[in-house]
Amino acid sequence: MSPDKASTRSASRVFAREFHRTLPKAMRGEGIWIVDSEGRRYLDASGGPAVSCLGHSHPKVIEAVQRQAALLVEAAPAGMDKVFFVCGGSEATEAALKLARQYHLEKGQPQRRHFISRRQSYHGNTLGALAVGDNPARRATYAPMLMEVRHIATCYPYREKRSDETEAAYGRRAADELDRAIRELGPENVAAFIAEPVVGATLGACPPVPGYFKRIREICDRHGVLLILDEVMCGMGRCGTLYACEAEDVVPDILTMAKGLGAGYQPIGGVMAHRRVVEAIESGSGALMHGHTYLNHTVGCAAALAVQRAIQEEDLLANVRRQGERLKQGLEERLGNHRHVGDVRGRGLFLGIELVQDRASKRPFDPDLKLHARLRDAGMSEGIVCYPSGGCVDGRRGDHVVLAPPFTVTDREVEEIVERMGRTIDRALRSLPAGQAG
Ligand code: PMP
Repeated sequence: MSPDKASTRSASRVFAREFHRTLPKAMRGEGIWIVDSEGRRYLDASGGPAVSCLGHSHPKVIEAVQRQAALLVEAAPAGMDKVFFVCGGSEATEAALKLARQYHLEKGQPQRRHFISRRQSYHGNTLGALAVGDNPARRATYAPMLMEVRHIATCYPYREKRSDETEAAYGRRAADELDRAIRELGPENVAAFIAEPVVGATLGACPPVPGYFKRIREICDRHGVLLILDEVMCGMGRCGTLYACEAEDVVPDILTMAKGLGAGYQPIGGVMAHRRVVEAIESGSGALMHGHTYLNHTVGCAAALAVQRAIQEEDLLANVRRQGERLKQGLEERLGNHRHVGDVRGRGLFLGIELVQDRASKRPFDPDLKLHARLRDAGMSEGIVCYPSGGCVDGRRGDHVVLAPPFTVTDREVEEIVERMGRTIDRALRSLPAGQAG
């Protein structure tokens, strides 16, 4: 295949913002020239909004974007056909919400504007993302400015599964909250449901019970509601599969990614859409009603491409699965009987430890004790950087620590993490006022 054909094929996997239909349609750009669908040439004297300082189609620059899109789409769940790149997780959430809204407009259902999400979730720090998220501290200041969103319970087996209930029954019960919320709002008014497959920052690497997301998918389908999966933290291999939803055997309508996509080397996020969403837009207005100057930014894409190649060439997903098992097992052995460790959970190299004052009742430590801050400081003293978070005032969860080491972690390093984490927890607990920890 000629390089031209190959790059056109890859380029078709990237969402392109097109001019509105009433304007000439830009088909391609070459240097300072833009060529429309009639073959007419325009001298691009503004470089878009004063951006295009290298002109259009610089071969070195476009290569990275095209290759990156092709690689991600090839490895994605069936039907996830197109992706566009933004600069981070919050931007990806905003774009996903807008895309869902636009989808329903294109389908002639403009009244579908409500979003449903889950408590104890985080989707980013911009206004739309804060609205769908449920991080009380981050929301408080801006609460009056946030769109109204219905929050349902998250899937949190450690605290929410009843002891007389099977995992499957609990999964059904948790998912059915979505069905109820949709019916209450009126299915015809609901645009999308957004959730993290494995909950990260707010719940300490908390995977769902098997079957939960399958039922969520069924409920969304039943009511014509789109399913947005936020894989910003749990995706891109972190849980042992490139996409976290692979383990749930569920294909979303829209999927967001960030963090691991650029592995911290470059700011980049992505929004991937299912064919049915793309087709609705392509056969409707034809243009994605969203965009920023740095959509599909080349340097970010180049970094992400290099990250994906390293993951493939070094077979790192296999290492994530193997070391993830070892790390979890090591933590369970070291901390499983610890009187203040309530739960060790997670998937792949995305693990969480929840600390409680009392194991039997699962009572968290008093948030005023700021155990999470003590854990951070104790970690520093033990020479380990971990990601602790505070418990909730209403006792809905305890302080927890997230561990998410690099995919390259070795046997020896896993053992070292277990050892240092154990010492960190003991040190943090010793720092509590007398009588708080035994
Ligand atoms: N979604 C999830 C699940 C996240 O964990 C985060 C970041 N912690 C975001 C969205 C927002 O990403 P960013 O900080 O890159 O805007």
